[in-house]
Amino acid sequence: MKVLVVFVYLFGFCCSSGQAAKNATIQTFVIPHSHMDVGWVYTVQESMHAYAANVYNSVTEELSKDKGRRFISVEQEFFRLWWDHVASDWHKKQLRQLVKEGRLEFVIGGQVMHDEAVTDLNDDILQMTEGHGFLYQTFGVRPRFSWHVDPFGASATTPVLFALAGFDAHVVSRIDYDLKDAMQKNKNLQFVWSGSPSLKQQQIFTHVMDQFSYCTPSQLPFSNSSGFYWNGVALFPDPPKDGVYPNMSLPVTKETVHAYAQTMVDNIKQRAAWFRTNHVLWPWGCDKQFYNSSVQFRNMDPLMNYINQNSAELGVTVQYATLSQYFQAVHQSDLLWDVRGNQDFLPYSTESYQAWTGFYASRNVLKGVARRASSQLHAAETLFARYRISFPDGPVAKDWALDKLKALRWAVSEVQHHDGITGTESPKVAEMYMDHLTQAMMGVDELLAALFLLPHNLDIHSATYRSHHHTAGVDEDLEQHVIVYNPLAWNVTSIINVTVAIAMATVYDDDGQPVPSQIQRSAQSNLTFDLFMVAELGGLQHRKYVIKFTGKAGSATADGGWTYEAEGVRFDRRRTRDRTRTGRRLLPVLNECYKIMLDQDTNLLHSITYLPDKRRVRITQDFWQYHANGDVKAGPISDNYMFSPNGSAVKAYEAVEMEIIPGKIITEIRQYFYRSEGDKDYAYSIITRVPECYGSRVGCHRLEQTYSVGPLDVNTEVVLRTRTSLTNNRTLYSDDNGYQMMKRPFRTFRNNTVARNYFPMVRAAFIQDDLSRLVVVSDRAHGVSSQSNGQLEVMLHRRLWNNLPWNLGYNLTLNDSSVATPTLWMMLGSVETASRLHHREAVEMQHRPVVMAIDQPQKPWNLEPRGAGPVPSVVLPPNLHLLSLSIPGWNYSSDHERHLRRLDAGEDLRSEVNYNRVLLRILHLFEDGEDPELSKPVTIDMKEVLRGFGEVTSVEERSLTGTWALDRLQRWTWNTTQTRTERRRCRTRGTQTFSVTVWPKQIRTFFVHF
Ligand SMILES: [Zn+2]
Repeated sequence: MKVLVVFVYLFGFCCSSGQAAKNATIQTFVIPHSHMDVGWVYTVQESMHAYAANVYNSVTEELSKDKGRRFISVEQEFFRLWWDHVASDWHKKQLRQLVKEGRLEFVIGGQVMHDEAVTDLNDDILQMTEGHGFLYQTFGVRPRFSWHVDPFGASATTPVLFALAGFDAHVVSRIDYDLKDAMQKNKNLQFVWSGSPSLKQQQIFTHVMDQFSYCTPSQLPFSNSSGFYWNGVALFPDPPKDGVYPNMSLPVTKETVHAYAQTMVDNIKQRAAWFRTNHVLWPWGCDKQFYNSSVQFRNMDPLMNYINQNSAELGVTVQYATLSQYFQAVHQSDLLWDVRGNQDFLPYSTESYQAWTGFYASRNVLKGVARRASSQLHAAETLFARYRISFPDGPVAKDWALDKLKALRWAVSEVQHHDGITGTESPKVAEMYMDHLTQAMMGVDELLAALFLLPHNLDIHSATYRSHHHTAGVDEDLEQHVIVYNPLAWNVTSIINVTVAIAMATVYDDDGQPVPSQIQRSAQSNLTFDLFMVAELGGLQHRKYVIKFTGKAGSATADGGWTYEAEGVRFDRRRTRDRTRTGRRLLPVLNECYKIMLDQDTNLLHSITYLPDKRRVRITQDFWQYHANGDVKAGPISDNYMFSPNGSAVKAYEAVEMEIIPGKIITEIRQYFYRSEGDKDYAYSIITRVPECYGSRVGCHRLEQTYSVGPLDVNTEVVLRTRTSLTNNRTLYSDDNGYQMMKRPFRTFRNNTVARNYFPMVRAAFIQDDLSRLVVVSDRAHGVSSQSNGQLEVMLHRRLWNNLPWNLGYNLTLNDSSVATPTLWMMLGSVETASRLHHREAVEMQHRPVVMAIDQPQKPWNLEPRGAGPVPSVVLPPNLHLLSLSIPGWNYSSDHERHLRRLDAGEDLRSEVNYNRVLLRILHLFEDGEDPELSKPVTIDMKEVLRGFGEVTSVEERSLTGTWALDRLQRWTWNTTQTRTERRRCRTRGTQTFSVTVWPKQIRTFFVHF
């Protein structure tokens, strides 16, 4: 008992010491900021013109006038556009000084404020690396705080990434309304977040904004409407010539100052009551603010002076501050903070009928292109890095190549914005993202072609090849040449699909050996054929294949090659209303892993038996749709953001046709779903490819499914529903940013239960019972849910329109008439087997081999010298993934002091990229304890692993975005209610050792010098 008393006493003491007495003066940190969406309603160009350039012009001018003023800069895409194209020399000089003195602070430092629900960690890391690289190169500064105030829900992966990037604190805002209420009442809006259960040392202090979020109160009774925004609201398309904007607030004068002060002080006191320390973070700003900073500060200065002059009476002091000033004060309070585990804040609702779960599936096509661009970028980065190291004097111009890569890095970064990849932008902004992505992808295609066309060994072979390429079609000589590149640091055996125009072909590899292949009529077109061939590729290796359109297919050629000509079997159209009895006529499709049964009574999947365990699971797949309401007067609506169905889902079709094409490489099952019984064209389809593994090392567990969905009827949201006999009790698992799996138990709400049980799936989702797990991995983000026992449904597409004036005004009703063609890979097995497979499958889905058809070389194929062979492979152990391998476009010395000296000396660092320094990241795919073998820490020798690349001379460990030397990185520690786990001693120091140990879920970042 006594011990307990002492404990309680100590606990009470330590808390009250920091929780300053109730009557103490509240210290208010007024943080001026402008929320500048990189997209959303207006394009980047429109925003630059209307307000964004003026934000930095006027903020620089106003901060220079008064030492007390502050500003935080967030989205680096806008800042860099201003810096490179608008800022005068005077502005630049002033701004450098402001940054140096800490009066202007960069927070987050990424190109954008990325979305947290539907982005992949590759892209989150990329967009921060680009922003951080620019800031460090230009100013020698490294952001240390986040400001994730607008993303729609918060992922548990973000705090891990920010901790790895060296951040000291994290700010989020949009979390469930009822949860935020409770956290305000209980004063636990601040905590230390341990976002990964395996990486306990990467904790970060987290501040959840209170109910006022990142804007200040705007409806003030005595002012005309705009509150503390004296500059009014931004005007599009042009800023007004006379400087008079709509909704400018009443100026602060002798007459109004007291009313303003009283409103501000009341608001500060209201907020202070929700926090444990006497410090209040008072964000001063909102969307598109501070384009006319002089009006802003001219009014706020006297208001703040007035409050400070009367602070004794008002109980409040106010000061302009940066985010670091606020967090320093909280940190110094030395309180004991609760620790939050790896639960995320997804999904997110603002009211019971406003579940922000629709955007997980909005603009499926943009989501798909964004991910494809990211994959292409990874492939090109690895290939170019290898080329630079292996052939430093090779003919592909390095600056030209790097420019192509940079354009794609920035396009992929841009679309990660929280109104970008989310699909919550206006149609013209969606077009802008798409344009930037496709232009940059075309540029990188050129780069890939230039690199692929080089012979493997430049010293002994100097043939000149035509540098252009075409992507499809048949060569005049009835030969087609194809390059296949494996962008993964693992050996893979893949089935490659090439579209060809002639049905008879034989395939040879670069050793002249025949390659097993199969040809069949394409599902998409009557004029083309799908050629499947088995490609065996080492890690980071590319190989050339030649497709010869001579000789008869379907029979062995003289040299032992063969191409199997597959013919389909069609099954009659089945109507759903005839489904009185099912399961009588089952048709098996077999491979080494599965016996897949198809039901001829329905033309649907019936069951899958997982052969190694002889376990049969009933599985049916078909399309269902939710109906949304288009009239706001009739009830809640669905839009770009929100999902609010007006009932349960209904079947989206009346009839199904099926065709099965048995093959020796793959067997293809084609199912076509007709909206009405008599329709000529199908509305949805599923193409399932079952690998037959014949004569190859292709794994048998991966069922590849590609869907065709759309155009949809207006106000429908279509899901692929997979109903199984698994008893999962509606518990689902889906990933946070492709980094970690989150358990999603079904929750019942008074209203809107369907929508509030939707979760984002970036790369993977699964359901399971004690015996079996069904996993799907995805090529783009979707919404997922388990609405009834054994069910996994994926929302694939949405088309909506409603008459809410706000939606109409901003064109955010999502009338998306496109056809979406997403791909999922499905795997079924014991929990252990599926768990072992799914991480790697998700990575392989993201980084499928790059296939590029090229012109025939001018020199005959077989004249290339033998012995040059394919390039040596680079292979990591199965639980380690080569997350990045690239040559950074930003130039800075690894030595911080040296870098600062060069900046002080006024050196222009932009032109001197270090092409011998490679940024390399390795990710351990498994959680602690997840698998008896694969969860173990792994030690590799970097020199050995990269030997195929070149001679490694030194390795330096860096922070996640490359800007800190890891051994110089000192993050703040926070006292928590949990004892700290001991920091692992596993760093590489200097050049003495090339041995690196990677622990479960670790991401380790290095500069590797060759
Ligand atoms: Zn925003």
